[in-house]
Amino acid sequence: MNQPASQPAAVLMASMARTRPPSLSGTAGVYCRPFYGDARLSYNGCAVIPEKATRVSRRRFLKLGVTAAGATLTAGCQSTRLSLPLNVTLPGSVQPELAAGAQLNYRNSLVALRRRVPLPDGTEAPEAGSGTLASDPALLRASRGARAGRADFDVLIIGSGYGGAVCAARLAAQRRPGVRIAVLERGREWVPGTFPQHLLQFNPLNPFARRTSWMSEQRPHNPLGLFGFHDGDVQVVIGSGLGGASLTNCAVVLEAEDRVFRQAAWPEELRSKDTLRPYYDRARRMLAPQTTPEERLTPKLSVHLKTAAGLKAKRLWDADAYRAPLAITFAARTNAQGIRQHGCVQCGDCATGCNVGAKHSLDMNYLPLAWTGGALLFAQVDVSTITKTGELYRVDYVLRPDASRPGRHQTGSVTAAMVVIAAGTMGSNAILLRSRDETGLATSAWLGKGFSANGNYLGFVDYQYTDPPVQTNSGGAGIGAGAPKNPVGTYIEGVIDFRRGNRPLDRRVLIEEMSQASSLADGLSLLMLVDLKRAMTLLGMGHDRAEGEIRLQGGAPTVRWPDYEHQPSHAELARLMTQYANALGGRYAVFSPARNTTAHPLGGCRMGESAATGVVNHSGQVFDASAGDGSKAVHSGLYVADASIMPTALGNNPLLTITALAERIAELIVNDPRNATLFEPTRVPPDPPIQAM
Ligand SMILES: Cc1cc2nc3c(=O)[nH]c(=O)nc-3n(C[C@H](O)[C@H](O)[C@H](O)COP(=O)(O)OP(=O)(O)OC[C@H]3O[C@@H](n4cnc5c(N)ncnc54)[C@H](O)[C@@H]3O)c2cc1C
Ligand code: SF4
Repeated sequence: MNQPASQPAAVLMASMARTRPPSLSGTAGVYCRPFYGDARLSYNGCAVIPEKATRVSRRRFLKLGVTAAGATLTAGCQSTRLSLPLNVTLPGSVQPELAAGAQLNYRNSLVALRRRVPLPDGTEAPEAGSGTLASDPALLRASRGARAGRADFDVLIIGSGYGGAVCAARLAAQRRPGVRIAVLERGREWVPGTFPQHLLQFNPLNPFARRTSWMSEQRPHNPLGLFGFHDGDVQVVIGSGLGGASLTNCAVVLEAEDRVFRQAAWPEELRSKDTLRPYYDRARRMLAPQTTPEERLTPKLSVHLKTAAGLKAKRLWDADAYRAPLAITFAARTNAQGIRQHGCVQCGDCATGCNVGAKHSLDMNYLPLAWTGGALLFAQVDVSTITKTGELYRVDYVLRPDASRPGRHQTGSVTAAMVVIAAGTMGSNAILLRSRDETGLATSAWLGKGFSANGNYLGFVDYQYTDPPVQTNSGGAGIGAGAPKNPVGTYIEGVIDFRRGNRPLDRRVLIEEMSQASSLADGLSLLMLVDLKRAMTLLGMGHDRAEGEIRLQGGAPTVRWPDYEHQPSHAELARLMTQYANALGGRYAVFSPARNTTAHPLGGCRMGESAATGVVNHSGQVFDASAGDGSKAVHSGLYVADASIMPTALGNNPLLTITALAERIAELIVNDPRNATLFEPTRVPPDPPIQAM
């Protein structure tokens, strides 16, 4: 679908015409281990611009600050003679804004080239995640007031994780001509090859790391970092960037059990898994999960499965043990969105970003779909508040256009008729809490409450003194000079699943084994005094009581839940992990800060039947509490569609359920007759009608 040539785009196109031929500037880096090498840029094969050569990056591909229409860029490297001819083909016919935007100076931004690779059949495909999904921030500023008498955007989606990316893709695919949809994402665009691989890249004192890989919400020295950390009674780890936590998660794709939905806390429309089943299928088709192939079993996975089998044989455990379905490809492929992906090399770094392009993170599937559907994807835009102004919403933001100086920012605002908040549990709660406190948005008293850590619980097993030796090889290898000689495996490869029979929820837990990413492995070994070749990290999850509360502390969200440590599911996991360790003669250890850490924050904007029991209804519409506590009235056009809407723990890795729920919300939005001017309805009508106000 063609992008409408909006007025600001036309202005930019005109300025582009005046400045032809475009000049090339910016930075480039080439990976050429073991030395850093100079990258040389040439324009149309002739003008070498040595003064623009830099030594900033040690990555295998070019990363450019500025791209120019029709330019051919060549990278050379002193140590390896690596040469990467790249044809920059700006998709002017598809998205004129982007083509125009590319003429502006993107100095220091990390927008990269979408490199095209030849396929065996002679055609070409864009290479995995090689950039340019992000739109020029100038377009966001130029949008303010650009449509006289109308909202700047018809739909704004805040956040680009599973909730945001799904909504962006599905709404963009069904938008009517001229409808403007944009995603506002706080983090940067990341591309494979730029994710951290060394401890130094995680050290906040290291200026390079500060620019690339570290962020603390309470001390935001790098609000553009790849990770967010929220201190509190529960420490919350989140991912941030175009693609949300999909960039840094372990890609385990599991469905929640039917009995999860049968709990009274779930809204009636969803109180059976049957409602979500078609959306689970749709999500699975997009995320294309695979298990580790039989011929590529690793020591880590073998130890995990062998331990479970041994305990089952002794009748100590009644559990299923299986290879985890992973949103990862093990062989090179061109995905359904036409992106060429490399096969997984089992380097064990998934949770700090896949440098190979094997993970089906959202920049490989839903976000390109949104992009081709004509949605604008703005990175480095941090939404602060939402204000209701009559029929429209004003969204205030902080734009950080300069990735190397995240402290430099500009504030701005845009209006929209529809806003979908999908900033993840911590982000969405923070935006709504700030909006409630600062702009008077009437929300349910439940806002912030009902937080669940999905029962996350971390344990370690040290096999150093076992006889015979137990090798796990669980220290991430990174990609270094290529595929590791001794494959580590994906971050998580296997699941031991105790969700069987009539066990009560407290005892329906999972144990997954983990590697430690190469950038963390050395530090962790030192801290724990363990050799990761002979140790195992275990991630447990289950059903906590969802009794935490997200509050704002200095404007940043933090979790208050003094009792979290004493969840019955924790006691069960500690018991099982001790048996796990003993099975092969290992020593069980709890790393105490990790006991209260979660990477699966859920809730705070929970679904409910009315404002008396929830913040949003089953279709993600935000209850308007000004109409009274028991009222089902909603703020027209205001939605939440991410992990924050879960009313309980899920008891397993949550990404698939979040994706399925977002698929359902997007479908309900598209088929709501009140949105008929914005979207073509889908051919298959949604099963339940959207709830009337
Ligand atoms: C290390 C790690 C490993 C994990 N492994 C797995 C796994 O194997 N399987 C699984 O199922 N789940 C896993 N998860 C959890 C899973 O990734 C999350 O539950 C899921 O990504 C949540 O999706 P979401 O749409 O709610 O939000 P997110 O994916 O968190 O995306 C939210 C986005 O919104 C952006 N944002 C936040 N605030 C603002 C703002 N104010 N303005 C604009 N943008 C904003 C954030 O930067 C982020 O990019 C893991 C998580 C982590 C951190
Ligand atoms: S193991 Fe390495 S190559 Fe495979 S998905 Fe994870 S990070 Fe990518």
